[in-house]
Amino acid sequence: MGIKVCKFGGTSMADGNVILSAAKIVDSDPERRYVVVSAPGKRFSGDIKVTDLLYKCSDEADAGDVFAFKETFGKIRVRFLNIETEVGKKLGMKEALDEVEEAILNGAGRDYCASRGEYLAAKIMAAVLNVPFVDATEFVRFDKEGVLSEETFDLAAKVLSAYPRAVVPGFYGLGANGKVKTFSRGGGDISGSIVARGVMASLYENWTDVSGFYACDPRIVNSPKWISELSYQELRELSYMGANVLHSESIFPVRSAGIPIRICNTFRPEDAGTYIVKTSKRGVSENVVTGVAGKKDFTVISLEKSMMNGEVGFVEKVLSVIGKRGISFEHLPSGVDTMSLVIDNAYLKNGVLEEVVEEMKAAVRPDKIYTHKDIALVATVGHGMAKNVGTSARLFKAISEAGINVIMIDQGSSEMNIIVGVENKDCADCIKAIYDEFFN
Ligand code: ASP
Repeated sequence: MGIKVCKFGGTSMADGNVILSAAKIVDSDPERRYVVVSAPGKRFSGDIKVTDLLYKCSDEADAGDVFAFKETFGKIRVRFLNIETEVGKKLGMKEALDEVEEAILNGAGRDYCASRGEYLAAKIMAAVLNVPFVDATEFVRFDKEGVLSEETFDLAAKVLSAYPRAVVPGFYGLGANGKVKTFSRGGGDISGSIVARGVMASLYENWTDVSGFYACDPRIVNSPKWISELSYQELRELSYMGANVLHSESIFPVRSAGIPIRICNTFRPEDAGTYIVKTSKRGVSENVVTGVAGKKDFTVISLEKSMMNGEVGFVEKVLSVIGKRGISFEHLPSGVDTMSLVIDNAYLKNGVLEEVVEEMKAAVRPDKIYTHKDIALVATVGHGMAKNVGTSARLFKAISEAGINVIMIDQGSSEMNIIVGVENKDCADCIKAIYDEFFN
């Protein structure tokens, strides 16, 4: 008998009734032995996720605004007390909430505060399933740089081996300073993957509110093609580029162990979902392209200098300008005498872009340096593209026929992705044009 790890996202934990449905899913299969949960998410559009309320609480507590803090914490209180009523069990929520409130007011810190949604949600799920609660701080560890520590996997195996079944809160672990530390937003998916690796699961089921991946965003194209199977690498490319189903880093813990991930819909558990596997078995007869995704708000900094190719250390000097500032770049397309850096706008706010340009001028004295703001990156992804003559011709013809100007092109060496930079305003049209070319 295999072991399945189920991770339930925020919408699957949003209220007591959905939690009961999630518990029913777990109970319907004896292989579903380990459960990881997110904090209660949105119940309806316009609702606020518990994690967002907790970040607000943290800001208010830091600002010493106890009145505002109490008001926001009150909303969290109501949500958890309602859940307790809805699941119809005495869960000790009032006492647990009092404890959390006091800890935050006593300066427990931002990550501790943000993590409590998952902590309380896991306590609830553990009581509903009548399965032990195991805190993530017992095995999820971060190093001094804040990166997930390798020891996590052995520790997870050791700690969880003592429990034939367990419920674990997602999104956090223990930092090198001994305090609670969270992953980036949506990081509960990574926690699920860690548990799957720890117990050497046969399957990591990620339960959410969609029935898997689609070849592109359904808000851009009506009823796009559903993807039955993706490789880890395709998933990484698509989710990094904006396909919001799964955290882009969640493949790392399971990838080396070859544990497949299945995306499932809590609200339509009968749907097949999407499988994410080591090597996709999608036939070449299927679409050469697996999916198209896009992400807005990048800046391209381009440098030109005659004989750049012969100038040893040119790229290094340019990169050290951003490296010193802790700015990372997304892409680095280059020509003989040109190079461009594609950087997330978030790094370049409040005059930072202008300062970076000046520092680059001083560092390498380019003939020309120019910037292109508000660029969207659109990635066309698929193993089927490799060695398939004419794919890029079709792609660029489709974009040009849609009247869209391509500002930048980058193709990964594995030939499984082509990324184009277009104006932010052209992002959706570009995705649609590519989708229509390869799927219609
Ligand atoms: N609750 C966290 C967030 O909203 C983590 C997660 O849901 O995975 O980002």
